[in-house]
Amino acid sequence: MHTLFDNAVQSLQLGIEDYEANDSKRALSAVRNFYAGVLLLAKEVLIRAAPNAKPKDVIGARYKPVPDGKGGIDFASGIQTIDFNELGERFTAFHIKIDHAALKDLNRIRNDMEHLYTQANQQTVREAMAKAFPVVVDLFRQIGEEPHALLGDSWTAMLNVKELYDRELKQCTETFDGVDWKSQALSEASRPCPKCGSHLVYRLDQSRNESGFADAQCRQCGEKIDAIMLMETALEAHFEYESHSSVKDGGEAPLGMCPECGTKTYICWEEENQCVNCFLQLEGCERCGESLTPNNVSDDSSSLCAYCAYKMSKDD
Ligand SMILES: [Zn+2]
Ligand SMILES: [Zn+2]
Ligand SMILES: [Zn+2]
Repeated sequence: MHTLFDNAVQSLQLGIEDYEANDSKRALSAVRNFYAGVLLLAKEVLIRAAPNAKPKDVIGARYKPVPDGKGGIDFASGIQTIDFNELGERFTAFHIKIDHAALKDLNRIRNDMEHLYTQANQQTVREAMAKAFPVVVDLFRQIGEEPHALLGDSWTAMLNVKELYDRELKQCTETFDGVDWKSQALSEASRPCPKCGSHLVYRLDQSRNESGFADAQCRQCGEKIDAIMLMETALEAHFEYESHSSVKDGGEAPLGMCPECGTKTYICWEEENQCVNCFLQLEGCERCGESLTPNNVSDDSSSLCAYCAYKMSKDD
């Protein structure tokens, strides 16, 4: 009776089949099918959470008020249903827990695959599936279904994909052991490839532990990543959420352009106030005492705020 649920299981299985074909022509299809399966599964979770509602009302994306002919209104839902972007919000509204960061990641991977499908290969697909794996497990658990019973061989294949990816990721991550980042944020940040977003990035020269020598390469797309680019990309991803909310709520941005070295590696977050590339630490403005950040510092002097620098130039 659960037609949507059946479709979800079938889509996941088709995605795994495409992946196992190990044919670059089927790489995009693998991710499309697999992610369609994840999305359907999530919709099933929502539908089961409101068993007396009409499914199309639960998963509809756009509602518009239409007159009901009796002086009131009805909400007509379009044929469109929610996508990865809207899924998180709907889960929150239904008070169902879901990993929002993971969902966002899936949405990004899905979009990247559409744009970069020419570069897609079995490894990119593996990473896409491995990232989705915990979400899939969680969704099955939410509705009390057994994934291994439903997915059969595909479940074993999914486990293998996840295990293989985790092993590769561990090998890559370990190459950064011992790097002296001199920064809490940077040592906690993950290090995605600036070109393809893969986390299978490894350090090239492991004999020097200074962060400035942490040049790396992406195992997925082969991109060479110099240490500065590596740090910029890592911090941008690490502070993505905080940067977004600082723009929305008008707070201080956690990450800024360093006035000294010109890279986007200046951290103003919790205890940290420094550039992690050149290690400049902005202090108070020499004239008015206001604490300086990349946002208010003068372009000409890293010891004056922009306002005071302007004032002083007019006094001259
Ligand atoms: Zn890459
Ligand atoms: Zn700097
Ligand atoms: Zn000042």
